[in-house]
Amino acid sequence: MVKDTKTGNRLSRLNPETDRQEQAVPALAIVDPEIFAAALAKRGGRAAMAPRDRTTPRHLLSGLLRCGSCGAGMSVEDHHRGRTRIRCTKATEAASCDNTRSYQLDVIEAAVAGGLRDRMVDRDGIALYVRVYNEERQALAAYSVNRRAQIEKRLQQAEREQDRIYKA
Ligand SMILES: [Zn+2]
Repeated sequence: MVKDTKTGNRLSRLNPETDRQEQAVPALAIVDPEIFAAALAKRGGRAAMAPRDRTTPRHLLSGLLRCGSCGAGMSVEDHHRGRTRIRCTKATEAASCDNTRSYQLDVIEAAVAGGLRDRMVDRDGIALYVRVYNEERQALAAYSVNRRAQIEKRLQQAEREQDRIYKA
């Protein structure tokens, strides 16, 4: 806040960027990261996200785990004694699921990794893995191409608009 010397009124002014400190505190997020990302994707895509939110998933199974009771996503509940606990997002945010139990993420990750390791000795399991992996990569690549086209279109629009403003 600064004081207007003429009127004596207090005015709010943003501090210069060099005086600001920013830090992501995912544990204090009001909206589940999964839901937030989905909402951003709907609103205008990842281009609208802050760079720190565009990073790769935080955990091995980020976005993949589902509540066994209602099928909703799981979100980080807290970090307790160096271990991460997760919980049904619907149970946490809307109390619309009765599965209020929390789970140790490292236990789930170890079980999944162990299961994968067991199945990777099987030829059919490897073939299935490679096929699903390639399908997912292709879907992601198609998404990127599509996004790039959208962004380039928006850029052209912005450039045309800039031209118009400049000419005016
Ligand atoms: Zn649930």
